[in-house]
Amino acid sequence: MFALVDGNNFYCSCERVFQPRLQGRPLVVLSNNDGCAIARSNEAKDLGISMGAPYFKIRHLEREVGLVALSSNYPLYGDMSNRMMTLAAAMGPTQEIYSIDESFIGLDGVPDLARRGHAIRDRIHRWIGVPCGIGIGRTKTLAKLANHIAKTADRKPGTYPAELAKVCNLAALPAQDLDDVLAATDLGEVWGIGRRIGEQLRAAGLHTVLDVARMDPVVARRRWSVVLERTVRELQGQSCIALEDAPPAKKEIACTRSFGQVITDLDPLIEAVTEHASRAAQKLRQQGSVAAQLQVFAHTSPHRDDPQFSKATIVPLRRPTSDTAALVHAACAGMRSIYEPGYRLIKAGVILLDLSPVGVVQQELDLEPEPRDRSRLMAALDAVNDKYGRGTLKVASAGTAGARRQMTMKQSRRSADYTTDWDAIMIASA
Ligand SMILES: [Mg+2]
Repeated sequence: MFALVDGNNFYCSCERVFQPRLQGRPLVVLSNNDGCAIARSNEAKDLGISMGAPYFKIRHLEREVGLVALSSNYPLYGDMSNRMMTLAAAMGPTQEIYSIDESFIGLDGVPDLARRGHAIRDRIHRWIGVPCGIGIGRTKTLAKLANHIAKTADRKPGTYPAELAKVCNLAALPAQDLDDVLAATDLGEVWGIGRRIGEQLRAAGLHTVLDVARMDPVVARRRWSVVLERTVRELQGQSCIALEDAPPAKKEIACTRSFGQVITDLDPLIEAVTEHASRAAQKLRQQGSVAAQLQVFAHTSPHRDDPQFSKATIVPLRRPTSDTAALVHAACAGMRSIYEPGYRLIKAGVILLDLSPVGVVQQELDLEPEPRDRSRLMAALDAVNDKYGRGTLKVASAGTAGARRQMTMKQSRRSADYTTDWDAIMIASA
């Protein structure tokens, strides 16, 4: 049994915590260099602003309906994420961080799931101010779907039974009710069913999640792929997706894994982070994107009686990139900045953020020479690793930490670092 805990409109919600005047107003957060909308409040969604809408096309709404557009503030989101993850971890015995605002919680042995879900959700809201949705199901795919239902039932009353809003436990529904819910949901909402497969399924006469859940897994494999077969099995309640093979999050790429054994020294930690960053970089190139920010984190086991450590940091990249060496360098610098000796760490990870398609390059006024184009080197790296196995060719030196260079991104609408900079802490007047 799994839960997916997911922050609602996460970047927008983080901004609202410190700027309550933004509550109830249409709000978007913009990608690097204030290019396009990467997070939208419900009010902004209701205005018809789509994900990825270029800022210049929506700016007229600022004047017309009071839209607020903010530059992205990743140090704030990264720190709020860390707080949210720590609270979400209390839901059950294991946690797998899937993206900056989503984690899967293993629920083996946990009683009274919906009530516990509401308690955790309330605590996250009360302690850090971010609303979230919790989906519960027998598999990760069902938990993810339950999360979608929890959020949609909350945002658009009438779409689903009201008791599924905010926290939705699909495993507790009687069979007929479950079928009704699945029949009311478009198959495009299923984790891992992308636009292309979605179109093929529709052409074959399938439209709802129930249609997909009733497919014969063997037919799914024969006519489509092993990936779709796994999705069908997961919808039928048979758990078969490890986070390692999970479909990537739409807006970010996470590579994390528990260590085989406890790590306390920096060297093996740097090695692990190098591997995670390299793997994330390859996924990034596969989907033709570049990243402008990167998050690294490491933590101890919350279920051991050890001194606890859980830290994450955001490293801005000098230029959006998919270059393995640049990403490894940034990830290691970030890990060195959060590392403290003396803790028994069980997990570390790298999340690439602020992704955009390769072709979209912001022109900049910059006195530094353009970095050498290494796309052919990266293509060769990927080709060798595809052919001879992951990690055949890898980055030997993680580079030196060095001082993190200041970015020169255009971010004219960025909020303060409320939680990570002493000078930016808000002062409540008496
Ligand atoms: Mg979210």
